[in-house]
Amino acid sequence: MHEMSLAEGIREIVDEAVRTQRLGRVRTVVVEIGELSSVEPEALAFCFDEVMRGGPAEGARMEVVGVAGSGLCLQCHQTVAMHRLYDACPACGGYQLQPRDGMEMRVKEIEVE
Ligand SMILES: [Zn+2]
Repeated sequence: MHEMSLAEGIREIVDEAVRTQRLGRVRTVVVEIGELSSVEPEALAFCFDEVMRGGPAEGARMEVVGVAGSGLCLQCHQTVAMHRLYDACPACGGYQLQPRDGMEMRVKEIEVE
């Protein structure tokens, strides 16, 4: 399950921020999840709770902000909405979409008490 390693990555970022910015207890971690990142928000939330145990973000809430997927079609040169990787272009039906947005998962904000 790759959500576990993603959650561990989030913990590293959170721990680092708490250490370097001398933050208190973390209340909420806002995570951006791209539509094309193939990250399951529910699975990630589950791993998040597990991984944060014993750290400054134990019991913190993970808030998910979705990022819509989009891609550039190499066939008709339009930027189109993408909901899944390897989707066909909704404009021309071609299969040469190059993803642009919505590929990543990242920590957007850390809210502390
Ligand atoms: Zn197209």
